[in-house]
Parts: sequence; C-alpha cells; structure tokens
Amino acid sequence: MPEEKLLCKGLVDRIGEEDALIDYQNKQDQKNFKEVAEIKDHEFALKKVIQLIEDEEIGVIHNANEIELIGHRIVHGGTYFSNPRLLSDEVLSKIEEVTPLAPLHNPHNLKGVQVTQTLFPNARQVGVFDTAFHQSIPEKAYRYAIPKDLADDNGIRVYGFHGTSHRYIANQTAEFLDKPIQETSLISLHLGNGCSMAAVKNGQCIDTSMGFSPLDGLVMGSRSGDIDPAIVVFLQDKLKMTSAEIDQLLNKKSGLIGLCGTNDLREIISMAEGGDSNAELALDIYCYRIQKYIGAYLAVTGPLDAIVFTAGVGENSSLIRAKCLTGLEHLGISFDSDQNELASGTKASFQVKNSKVKLLVLPTDEELAIAKASYRVANE
Ligand code: ADP
Repeated sequence: MPEEKLLCKGLVDRIGEEDALIDYQNKQDQKNFKEVAEIKDHEFALKKVIQLIEDEEIGVIHNANEIELIGHRIVHGGTYFSNPRLLSDEVLSKIEEVTPLAPLHNPHNLKGVQVTQTLFPNARQVGVFDTAFHQSIPEKAYRYAIPKDLADDNGIRVYGFHGTSHRYIANQTAEFLDKPIQETSLISLHLGNGCSMAAVKNGQCIDTSMGFSPLDGLVMGSRSGDIDPAIVVFLQDKLKMTSAEIDQLLNKKSGLIGLCGTNDLREIISMAEGGDSNAELALDIYCYRIQKYIGAYLAVTGPLDAIVFTAGVGENSSLIRAKCLTGLEHLGISFDSDQNELASGTKASFQVKNSKVKLLVLPTDEELAIAKASYRVANE
C-alpha cells in the first residue's frame, strides 16, 4: 500500500477440523500451495500462514516482522462503530461486549486479533466492521415495532451486514459515474451465498435488508430471509422444535437449499433449464424478493443514479440480473440484453440509452476494502 499491489492471497478454511483446507496463492510469480490437513486452532493456522509467506520458494517477504499493519474483518460492532478503528484495548472490549449479538462470529474475530497480536508484535491492528456502513440508517428504518424498553435493553434493532462490501460498491459506483460520493444515490445488491441489499442516498446508507442478524431480508443460499415471525412460534408449539433446531432450519436448511436442494445458483439454473419445477420456482422466489426490495428502496431513496449488482451471483449471472430487472421499465429501469450478457465478470453498465437509472456490474473486493480502510486509519 498505497499502490494496492497484491503480493499473495489465501484462505484457511474449516479451522478446528481434521480436513481443514490451506489455500495460498503467490500473485507475484503464480506459485500456489494447497493442502488438506488438520488445523487445530487459529494460532496453528496463522503460524502456517507465516511459514508460507516467509518460505524461500513461494513466500513474498523475508520475515513476518516486515508486516506493519493487519486489517481484521469484524462482523459485529454493535452501535459503537461507524468507521474502521485501530484495535485498542477499549475497542476490543466493546467488540467483546457485543458478542451476544454475534455469538458465531465475534469470538472467532477476537481470537484472530489475539493470535496476530502475539505472532506479529510489530504490527498495528485495525478492525473493519461489517455493521459500520449501516450506522447511518435513520431510527424509523432501524427500529422494530416491538416494545421500546425491550428493544433498547437488549440491543434489538436493525444492524445490517455486508457493510464493507456495500460501502466499497457505493464508492466504486461514484468513481464509475465520475460523481462525488456525497451526490451519488444507488441500490447495491450483494448477491453471493449470503445476499443483502442497501439503499444509499447521497453516499449514506439509509436502509438495508439484513436486520438484527444476517438471516433477514432476501432469499439466500441456505437462509430463508424474511418470514412471518409467527412461523417460529408455530414450529415451537406445533412441532416442538427447539430454538437450536429452528436456528439450524432457518440458517442452514432454508433459502435455495430448502426450496430445491442446492445453494449453487449455476446448478439451479441448469436444473430449471432442464425443466425442474422446484428449481424454476426457487429462481422465481429469489428474484421476486429482490424486485420487491428494489421497489421499496426506490420509494425511499428518491432519484437514483444506479442499481448495482455485485458478488458471485450478481457479478456472474446475466440471467438473474435480467430476471430481477424485467418489468421495471415503468420505473425508468430498462436493461440492454446484449450488454447484460457482456457485463458478467467485468466492470460495466448495461442499461438502454434512455433508462433513467444506470444498471451496473461492479466486482466487490472485501479484502481490498479492508486493506484500504486499514491503511487510511493507520495514517490518520
Ligand atoms: P460468498 O457469499 O460465499 O462469498 P460468492 O460471492 O462467492 O459467495 O457467491 C457464491 C455464489 O455465486 C454461488 O451460489 C454460485 O453458484 C454463484 N455463482 C458464481 N458464478 C455464477 C454464475 N456464472 N452464474 C450463477 N451463479 C454463479
């Protein structure tokens, strides 16, 4: 940094399992390393990472002490953080404090910080929060209509997630349209395995589809998105399901998997093309939900510069983009089919000439967003 030159990238997946995956890619001379092995904890994983980046053959630095700055993706910052922060003891204790709101994420994020503090004693650490971009959402949008004291005492409100991606996309949109971010309004659609949308007015997020947790909103790979909360009570009373079973059902067995047996949209599209009616219906439900949110967000953003598609599905599937945008011509939204086909996997616009709203595909890059944010914070 600040040249944004990528030296290497990688992933350690399934930490704690015997068949964890270590995937390392040296981007300088394209030397890669992949291994399935037991990785017992985060410390072990990061020691392995250090070995790889220091390795004489495939490494990119001589000594881990050369690393000056480490950016951490922290899922939940509660209401404390609307921007990235250097991870002081005070900031870390706030992250700890909001752990009950993200019990599956924040403890692991904190573990990562603790281990990197030991293994990279010379590096400064920055936390970049998934919830931060959504802290500008006004109270009328973030408050649920439940008793106020109950909500306030327990921190029950909309937080929103995928914020690092939505903020990055808002900035990328402003750059693409050559407008100041403060004058740019957009709807950003992050469609990956997890899916969420954000309504951004003049550079500020004013609403988002994930809520108190990442379960809310759009239909996702394995999450239901919006459902009537009475269904939860019904499942408890009628089927005697426990809270853990319902949690598992709605987070892991619903969404596209629940509707047609797989969460891979490529597979679902080819199943639908082959006449599988469950796959067809899954695509219909997935895109219908997105259309409803586009309508809702258009009503609250006012004049819009762009609707932007990003992440695995948004960047790569012209069919899903077309299905989400068909029938919106009366709202000033018209796409060009040929341009839509060409837009996949690139940075491009695909609206027809007289479309009031621009339609864009912009690749998201959360690692780059975290690197940029960390660099900025460290140099403030
Ligand atoms: P994650 O949320 O895990 O980061 P990604 O952003 O990588 O997910 O998106 C994963 C999803 O993108 C998968 O459902 C995959 O099927 C879908 N996807 C990737 N390429 C295509 C494509 N060409 N057409 C349709 N879906 C695609």
